[in-house]
Amino acid sequence: MPLMRCTNCQTVVDATTLDPTCEKCGSALTLVPSESQGLKRGAFDRNSIGAWRYRDLLPAVPDADIVTLGEGGTPLLAADRLGKEFGLNRLMLKDESRNPTGSFIDRGVTVLVSLARSRGVRGVECETTGNLGASLAAYCAKAGIETNIRIRRSIDREKLYQMIAFGAEIQTSRPGRKDEQSDRRTLRATAGNPYILEGEKTTGFELIQDLGWKTPDVVVVPVGTGGHLAMIWSALQDLVHSGLIESQSCRFLGAQSIAGPTSGGQSKQRSSQAELTFAELEESEPGLRRLADRAMHDSGGQAIENSAAETVKAIGILARTEGIFAEPAAASVISSLKSARDERIIDRDEDVVCVVTGAGLKDTKAISRIARTSTPTALRDDYDLARLQVGPTKLEVLVALAKGSTFGYDLWKELSGSRSITTASVYQHLGELEGLGLVRRSGVATVKGRERVLYRLTDRGSVFLEMAGRLGHRNR
Ligand SMILES: [Zn+2]
Repeated sequence: MPLMRCTNCQTVVDATTLDPTCEKCGSALTLVPSESQGLKRGAFDRNSIGAWRYRDLLPAVPDADIVTLGEGGTPLLAADRLGKEFGLNRLMLKDESRNPTGSFIDRGVTVLVSLARSRGVRGVECETTGNLGASLAAYCAKAGIETNIRIRRSIDREKLYQMIAFGAEIQTSRPGRKDEQSDRRTLRATAGNPYILEGEKTTGFELIQDLGWKTPDVVVVPVGTGGHLAMIWSALQDLVHSGLIESQSCRFLGAQSIAGPTSGGQSKQRSSQAELTFAELEESEPGLRRLADRAMHDSGGQAIENSAAETVKAIGILARTEGIFAEPAAASVISSLKSARDERIIDRDEDVVCVVTGAGLKDTKAISRIARTSTPTALRDDYDLARLQVGPTKLEVLVALAKGSTFGYDLWKELSGSRSITTASVYQHLGELEGLGLVRRSGVATVKGRERVLYRLTDRGSVFLEMAGRLGHRNR
């Protein structure tokens, strides 16, 4: 049985389950490093790339039970253009957005799900705001294990779509509510799971091997739950401990987001982005946060705060200079890097690595803000149009008009075939659609002594229907 230590009260326990927490205080546990003397660098060079390259440093899993989607083995890229922007000569990016589900968390989930398969686990439950659930759903799909995910309202829609696609069962939950575990063959996974944390160390192992078994001067990592930052730091200790590197003197800077409603609200001004909250940044586990704080403190680093506005800006800077589209939590390292340079916390000639933890398409709220302010007018119009909410009756009016110009009265006759609707109501819908620029009056005719207005679809209306997938499909 592996020995585990509490991240809070330091109690050491024998871990028998795959989802242990401290019996005394309920905090997250981490594995006590086992003796790993005698490892040679060459052995890692020979292994194929990816997180399992470091299996000698990971919890033991039988070969046949390893559940992998090709996680890890992410590129360490020289970021010359971004470096120039910030006055850094040796800036590198570890691009974790390339992982199978678009997040570094895959490195941890591969370890937990592999162990789960080796122990005959039938189902995995988890409560999440995003990346963890998306990753678990993917790896459990691969392993043939059922996933039951409780999501919070604040979840990023794109991550929810990932979970749905991977066939997870989804439920909504309120934060803080504790449900009883359904049965012993069901595993409850959290971001603080000790095996997930072990797998996250591979970011650190890989980074050091990428650098020719040398440590950089500075590593910038999003703080998030605290786990990833603490584990990269812990990986460096493990490498020293096992003799694979002689020593390490790498400063850890944590990108700390103060996005969303800030407590006290005095440190940063409220901005137009103040209402933007990034679900992934809100998760926090006190024990892991404490570990991260220790990593930053002991390494001579510190946490650097970012506002939502700075983070949104950083997404754009990173994408435009280095061709990497990161999600807000990931881009926060770039705004922290900028602050660190402005405050001279990092010198121009230091080796700096920013860990970009997740892909931009996993949370598009922020980029949609940029789209609204910086895209050309035509694009912006399309964008506004795509977001337009039109009710079912208006949609029917538009679909009917797509056939050609129609009198309001005839439109009423057509619509009232399938529902009870007054002529006044039809004219009101038409008026509102005119206001939205989707419909216009194309003429007036006198029919049976009464004046009737002819309506037609505008080009904008056609584009809208096309976007809604309703052009040429009049019937449901
Ligand atoms: Zn404890």
